Amino acid sequence: MPTRLSPHFSLEELTASQTAVREGIDNTPDAAARRNLARLAATLEDVRTLLGGVPIIISSGYRSPQLNRRVKGARNSAHMSGLAADFTAPAAGTVLQVARRIAAADIAFDQLIHEYGAWVHLGLAAAESPPRRETLSIFRGTGYLPGLHKAPPA
Ligand SMILES: [Zn+2]
Repeated sequence: MPTRLSPHFSLEELTASQTAVREGIDNTPDAAARRNLARLAATLEDVRTLLGGVPIIISSGYRSPQLNRRVKGARNSAHMSGLAADFTAPAAGTVLQVARRIAAADIAFDQLIHEYGAWVHLGLAAAESPPRRETLSIFRGTGYLPGLHKAPPA
């Protein structure tokens, strides 16, 4: 039985990692990260509702420090605190359309990033910090650009 964090999101889907399994990396969140994952799941419920109740497909949620290093995540990545998820929602539109709908809504994200034209990164602020509602885009070779942009032609 999966461990439900919210009606549509489980601890298992927010900690799953093919890289961790393949390389034997422990990706078990501690108690603080687990509490953050519950907050993250609640925000993902808001996103799901905003998008009309379509499935949200998580490609990366929690990352232990070792896993984050292995996947070359940012050094201070919110994924390591259980405060970020990468996802798509194909039934609600393209990655850019989904990101723009979230940015236009009243969702308390800290960072919303259109990454490589392929997924949305949604990060939350730590519990005691106000969310910045920062929007960014990153593509191959660009670094982080302010705002949500269309992917440049390949
Ligand atoms: Zn991410």
